[in-house]
Amino acid sequence: MKMDKAKVDQFIKWLKEKWSNGQKCPICLHDDWFVGDKLFELKENEPEIPQTPSIMPVASVICKNCGHTVFFNALHIKLMDIPKQGGQNG
Ligand SMILES: [Zn+2]
Repeated sequence: MKMDKAKVDQFIKWLKEKWSNGQKCPICLHDDWFVGDKLFELKENEPEIPQTPSIMPVASVICKNCGHTVFFNALHIKLMDIPKQGGQNG
């Protein structure tokens, strides 16, 4: 899911506030990052109940030098609304 510009700006502002170790990549020590403008989903690996896995929406930041990718919980940063509980069919 693509974020609108306001959400991307909100994410960048949040990163600047929270990322306090010089913003260096822990793998290659470069500090040049690409801030993704899409949200992704991490899905719980639960083969016993494939219809109802837990899903964590995440925003990503990618090191331009080595490709190391960092995920942040999009709900925590309020980049999307918290899904309503319960289904339409009872
Ligand atoms: Zn790197």
